[in-house]
Amino acid sequence: TPEAAALKPRISVIGTGYLGATHAAAMAELGFDVVGVDTDPAKVELLAGGRVPFFEPGLEELLARHLATGRLSFTTDLAEAVAMSDVHFVCVGTPQQATSHAADLRFVESAVAGIARALSHDGIVVGKSTVPVGTAARLRELLGALAPEGVSTELIWNPEFLREGKAVDDTLHPDRVVIGGASPAAERVMRQVYGQPIAEGAPFLAMGLTTAELVKVSANAFLATKISFINAIAELCTVADADVNALADAIGFDGRIGRRFLDAGLGFGGGCLPKDIRALMHRAAELGALEVVGLMEQVDEINMAQRQRVVDLALEACGGSVLNARIGVLGAAFKPLTDDVRDSPALNVAAALHLRGAQVTVFDPEAGETARRMFPTLSYADDTLTAVDGAHVVLLLTEWSEFLDADPEELGRRVRARTVVDARNKLDRERWTAAGWTVIGLGTGVTA
Ligand code: NAD
Repeated sequence: TPEAAALKPRISVIGTGYLGATHAAAMAELGFDVVGVDTDPAKVELLAGGRVPFFEPGLEELLARHLATGRLSFTTDLAEAVAMSDVHFVCVGTPQQATSHAADLRFVESAVAGIARALSHDGIVVGKSTVPVGTAARLRELLGALAPEGVSTELIWNPEFLREGKAVDDTLHPDRVVIGGASPAAERVMRQVYGQPIAEGAPFLAMGLTTAELVKVSANAFLATKISFINAIAELCTVADADVNALADAIGFDGRIGRRFLDAGLGFGGGCLPKDIRALMHRAAELGALEVVGLMEQVDEINMAQRQRVVDLALEACGGSVLNARIGVLGAAFKPLTDDVRDSPALNVAAALHLRGAQVTVFDPEAGETARRMFPTLSYADDTLTAVDGAHVVLLLTEWSEFLDADPEELGRRVRARTVVDARNKLDRERWTAAGWTVIGLGTGVTA
């Protein structure tokens, strides 16, 4: 009943990938009864058995705890999940379409349609997936058209800002909670769901449906722009013989600029930023906001050029051709602390060099399995030393601390040539050059 829901809403989470699995476990941690739903039976089976299908620090502990408390369960049966809950979080994927820059909205549409058809009592549908502006309004119409008569429901938007690798903490302690398009009643329920973060000081920002959709997209667009900005400056540093690391430190002290997310290097990747800025380009073009289109095209182009730049540096280090050269690749994940290899710059570089005839061996502390699935033709090592065995050049492509802490002397004894391309500008140059290495950075010059 609405009264019971007002006391303590029961929660369903539709789509239990990186976002949904974390959200479901975190909501249980916040004290709610939660059921997670996914169309992928293998994923549901793993989660129900206490195993997280991907690497995310702290998530397995949370999952185990709340499977044990009984507050958390998983199913493939959407109707069953909807029947036993009051607030339905939509966390399904919105990947880039295969044939265009636009987001593929089939999953959100089918999730909302499925919820609508299954509604047997009042409930709120809360979109969390990242969607192009205008999607929520269409989903709201869909919900209204398909929900059974006599059931009171509404669709609101609550974009998610969690970072992979820090997802648990980000979900339990968000920087802010954004709610779009909520009626006063739905807003009350959301204040209850996020009661603990709000009590801890997280700002609760209520706004219109379209603004909430755009908040998420703009945040990602800004972060991507920041990275591409510093990578453009890195290119200038290279030709002007300046050091982009020192430069970023110096400008980063300006509070208006900020040092975070200002590291020049191989650029951004993953399941969010690249597809989100492309979806933004596409949607902005549809709506005629051409400045956004041009800006995002430039950001994307600069970002992708970094991958080519690292390929070129590897070619150069091998004397112009990598045919039959051995290349040790450190890193496959798109960033440390995750095993996510979606649109990973590291794997793009590895694959490009493999295509040019190099013998590429990749090692990643967590992403070996996911990488092998995506690029089965590359070879994979089980540790750093094996990856660099006999290498003509070593490429540091993901800045895992395991790589940054590695002993350059020990690595040096395994390689053919002590040359490393530090594509993340994170190696301790003094230590590496003292061990006889030539370190090649992006916008940080070459140290030997
Ligand atoms: P993901 O691919 O890991 O997970 C999506 C899940 O949804 C999959 O398990 C899939 O099987 C499931 N699914 C698809 N259709 C379904 C349906 N009709 N019913 C039930 N389950 C269904 O993707 P993700 O990384 O978790 O991202 C999900 C959304 O969250 C995307 O819009 C993404 O942009 C957004 N987001 C992701 C992150 C992140 O760090 N991964 C952060 C913020 C926002």
